[in-house]
Amino acid sequence: MINTKILSGIEASHALYDSLHQRIKSLKDQGITPGLAAILVGEDPASQIYVRNKTKRFDSLGLKSDLYRLDKTVSEDEVLDLIAKINKDDNFHGILVQLPLPKHINSDKIIHAIDPTKDVDGFHPENAGLLSIGRPRFIPCTPKGIMFMLKHFKVELNGKHVVVIGRSNIVGRPVSVLSSLKELGNATVTICHSGTSDLKYFTKQADVIVAAMGSPEFLDASYIKEGACLIDVGINRILRDEKSKIVGDVNESSVTGKASSLSPVPKGVGPMTIAMLVENTVLSAELLLN
Ligand code: NAP
Repeated sequence: MINTKILSGIEASHALYDSLHQRIKSLKDQGITPGLAAILVGEDPASQIYVRNKTKRFDSLGLKSDLYRLDKTVSEDEVLDLIAKINKDDNFHGILVQLPLPKHINSDKIIHAIDPTKDVDGFHPENAGLLSIGRPRFIPCTPKGIMFMLKHFKVELNGKHVVVIGRSNIVGRPVSVLSSLKELGNATVTICHSGTSDLKYFTKQADVIVAAMGSPEFLDASYIKEGACLIDVGINRILRDEKSKIVGDVNESSVTGKASSLSPVPKGVGPMTIAMLVENTVLSAELLLN
């Protein structure tokens, strides 16, 4: 049995906030308050919580954040018009459209309409392209938070084998790109997905596993080698003992004692995602000055 270290996203995010204070002060000294426009369509309870947590953090840091709540029946054109208006508004350095959107709205069309220089979620194809050629501008917040967390806790990636489970544009794919970049990770990366025929074959070789599949407590001790570092990205709501509970993709009790370290759910990657949204918005304001 080894001692499994818990990688606290609360601790890592506070280290980031500490480093942001000076940058925010410097912008304010120049008359600039970094501002975020958040757009929430509909009343999905999870989305409402996510957006509230994000805007609350902006408020607590003395940053500007405006929430645009739109009815779930809003048309695609109305959302596009709002984005066009915010694109031109100098008070906002970042635009966030909380996903998922109702089915009658084409998410790609919405994301593509955001000015790429205000795309603090990093989902616009221009920003995804810049990342893929190793010249990142806005890196999607969850992958960026994971990289910060690994660095903060001194988890070595250089020369290591990182196995990413999941290939979404929001998490899995950008994490795999970041881990492989020479300057950032320099790891050897394997990306797995639902078409991977023998997932265990890959995960058992991994020094670091990023689990971003959305399968509650899927990854147990049988999938990992002793001493692996596990980054649990999953957010899954399950019923246990007749109570609703959030769990990750990693079976925490099973891997404890075999993994060297584990980012828990909750209080792992989640707080880092919010912290990186703040960082990207501050960065956006700084880039405007340069
Ligand atoms: P997604 O778009 O549904 O992607 C899931 C990925 O996992 C897909 O690539 C899928 O493969 C793969 N997958 C699913 N089951 C698998 C299996 N049994 N074996 C191997 N691969 C499998 O989800 P996402 O947006 O990336 O999010 C992933 C999880 O992270 C979700 O639980 C989400 O709620 C959570 N999340 C958390 C944060 C945070 O801030 N903590 C942020 C974003 C997302 P295919 O491509 O073949 O379908």
